[in-house]
Amino acid sequence: MSPTLHPAWCDPEYCDIPDLPPLGSRGGAHRSKLIPLNLETEARGQAGQVYAGLSQSARPQAGVFLKWIIDGEPVGHLPIADAEPLAWLIADALANQRGDDQPVEHAKAPDQ
Ligand SMILES: [Zn+2]
Repeated sequence: MSPTLHPAWCDPEYCDIPDLPPLGSRGGAHRSKLIPLNLETEARGQAGQVYAGLSQSARPQAGVFLKWIIDGEPVGHLPIADAEPLAWLIADALANQRGDDQPVEHAKAPDQ
C-alpha cells in the first residue's frame, strides 16, 4: 500500500486522514493550521475567535475549501477556486505595503 500523500498546506496537527486507512475507507480530511482573523463581526458571538483554514476531504477528486470557524465550528466555506481572485488582490496589497510594488496611475481618459 502506498503511503498517504498530503498537500503542502496540510498540517499534521489538524489532518485526520489515517496513514494506513482500512480497505475501502478513506475517511477524514486534510486540514491546514487555523489562522486567527481579526474580524469584526457580530457572528462570532460573545467570546468566539474567528479562524480561517483550508480543508480537503480524502475522497478522490475532492475540492479544497477555505473555511471559517467560530467557537470550533465551521460556519462557512468557499471553494478555493472562488477565493483565488481575492487572494491575488491581497497579494498585490501586501506587495504594495512592503514596497515591492509601487503605486501606479490609472490610464483613464480625463472625462472619466
Ligand atoms: Zn493531510
